[in-house]
Amino acid sequence: MSDRVHNFAAGPAIMPESVLAQIRDEMLSLPGLGMSVMEISHRSAEFKAIHAAAQTNIRELLKVPDNYEVLFLQGGSRLQFAMIPMNLGIGQYIVTGTWGKKALEEAKNLGGAGAAWNGSEQGFVRFPSDDELDLDPAAQFVHVTSNETIQGVQFGQEPAVGDIPLVCDCSSDFMCRPLPIEKYGMIYACAQKNAGPAGVTVVIIRKDLLERSSTSLPSYMNYQIQAENDSMYNTPPTFGIYVIKLIGDWLRDSVGGLEKMRELNRQKSALLYDAIDKSAGFYKPHAAADSRSLMNVVFNLPSEELDSKFVAEAAKQQLVNLKGHRSVGGIRASVYNAMPLASVEVLRDFMIAFHQEHQA
Ligand code: PMP
Repeated sequence: MSDRVHNFAAGPAIMPESVLAQIRDEMLSLPGLGMSVMEISHRSAEFKAIHAAAQTNIRELLKVPDNYEVLFLQGGSRLQFAMIPMNLGIGQYIVTGTWGKKALEEAKNLGGAGAAWNGSEQGFVRFPSDDELDLDPAAQFVHVTSNETIQGVQFGQEPAVGDIPLVCDCSSDFMCRPLPIEKYGMIYACAQKNAGPAGVTVVIIRKDLLERSSTSLPSYMNYQIQAENDSMYNTPPTFGIYVIKLIGDWLRDSVGGLEKMRELNRQKSALLYDAIDKSAGFYKPHAAADSRSLMNVVFNLPSEELDSKFVAEAAKQQLVNLKGHRSVGGIRASVYNAMPLASVEVLRDFMIAFHQEHQA
């Protein structure tokens, strides 16, 4: 389709074009049904099959063991920031960027939470090493953000937290690579970056942790109730779950699984990091080399004026949504799973040309 641009938005973000085309083709009638997915009961056999397939795709792609539940909730990752301490107790937070900071603030509102590490003074440029973590063995969980969307800081490996359940916000790198799920108590991800449309949040939680949910919690916010009802305690976000199912199909059938996805994501982000590294300081990366994100490539130009010019000139080549978050400034190129390599090449070429044009 000629009028589609190269969309580097941070989220809601680019979706695979083949998935969008399938949604369009099935919009008025699911095959053989004569109705849209939005027009059928969440309790119908047809929707239940879609719901189950969405779960199975995630289970197979991420190799989720049987002792974990896969839930589809609403309220975004922000609601998880509250539900996690409400259900799991008092946690310690590894704060590597804006989202981890917000998660900790929400938990503090509910009482007791603290930081096991906080990178704010350094400007959130890196992930800590294990020996920097100040872990309290009495903590009921440790919370970490696998990929900080605004700073472009991602961990290469899970922090070592011993027997304390690790809870991970994977909102902006969900299914960008394989994960050893058994190392986690819970992972969660709002869908609107890598998994589907806004309005649905995936939660993968170890079954023994469900016992912690108190019956005094609001029912919707009780993981145990959500699990007992297979995420159908209330009417679930049916359209979003349908799209998550299609994205899972795409990851399996078109991409070839998460190992392949990781390889492709490495290739894509490396094109941009190489352009940054070869620019003799013209492009200054935000993240330290060992914490660079595969998903959000964040960098600054020598001046704010050049930042703005970069964004404006890029837009003329259909390279859009490159402006960095206001708290970091500069440029943020989000290269989620659905971003084609060819689009990243166009951006890389633009970066090289822009540098040549503007070098002192
Ligand atoms: N965590 C991370 C890492 C995010 O990137 C975002 C959204 N940008 C959130 C949490 C909040 O998600 P939501 O807006 O769906 O509540």
